[in-house]
Amino acid sequence: MKQSLRVRTLLSTLIIPCFLFIHTGRVSAADQMNPQTLKTFISSVPKANEVLFMYLGSSGLILKVADQTILIDPAGYLDAKAMESLKAVNLVLFTHGHGDHLNVQSAVQLYERFKTSIVCQQSLVAKFEQKIPEDKLITATPGKPVTAGKINVDSVEGKHPGTITLFRMTVDGITIFHAGDSGYVPLKDYSSQVAFLPVGGASPTASPDDALKMVAELNPQVTAVFHGKDQQYISFKSKMTSTFSKIKIMVCKVGESGKATVIPAAEKK
Ligand SMILES: [Zn+2]
Repeated sequence: MKQSLRVRTLLSTLIIPCFLFIHTGRVSAADQMNPQTLKTFISSVPKANEVLFMYLGSSGLILKVADQTILIDPAGYLDAKAMESLKAVNLVLFTHGHGDHLNVQSAVQLYERFKTSIVCQQSLVAKFEQKIPEDKLITATPGKPVTAGKINVDSVEGKHPGTITLFRMTVDGITIFHAGDSGYVPLKDYSSQVAFLPVGGASPTASPDDALKMVAELNPQVTAVFHGKDQQYISFKSKMTSTFSKIKIMVCKVGESGKATVIPAAEKK
């Protein structure tokens, strides 16, 4: 009896974490990220027409554009060691409050370390009260652009359980769209040179077809997809190649960096 109880306890301690791991699909970037890869990425300097990015997991990204470093949905993906490697953070944006996008404690640590401003929707502002000064908390309201230092941000209401805010950032003349893990919403007014789009994964709203409809309206030169399963990336790529042959497609891999090169608007024929 005792023996079987011990076996059951052992099994449950093994099975429950595995189930949680598979269910959330959450892989910590800290687990996968080679500290040297992060250091190399952080010290790299983007050219005038480049967006450098490192994918953290879910919809989490570190972007380097011009002299700016931006984090979007970093959740708790950056451990203390990874945070130490970041030299500066100019802005942190959160699309919504789900655990694989926002971790309040980690966001407060980012503020404390870099005195960075945070952009998030109204429903999340209360989570930061008493923890981050009001002048560092910028409310993202759809249809009302905001400026944080050298970064302009347009907010768009997305489609997801609860509320979600999608962002178009303009930095040094480059426009970058980030669609969290949202389903399709009309985006004709937000054309962007680079589009980071979800194709599914654990999101009940994102799918390859939704991402494809976003691409059709954002009309990017480069699209990098995340928040998806292997089959969804394959499906997205196959639909893209037949429909939008001129758009470069990249698939984000946790802990890896990438480079999106754009043609400046003035040079584009
Ligand atoms: Zn979500």
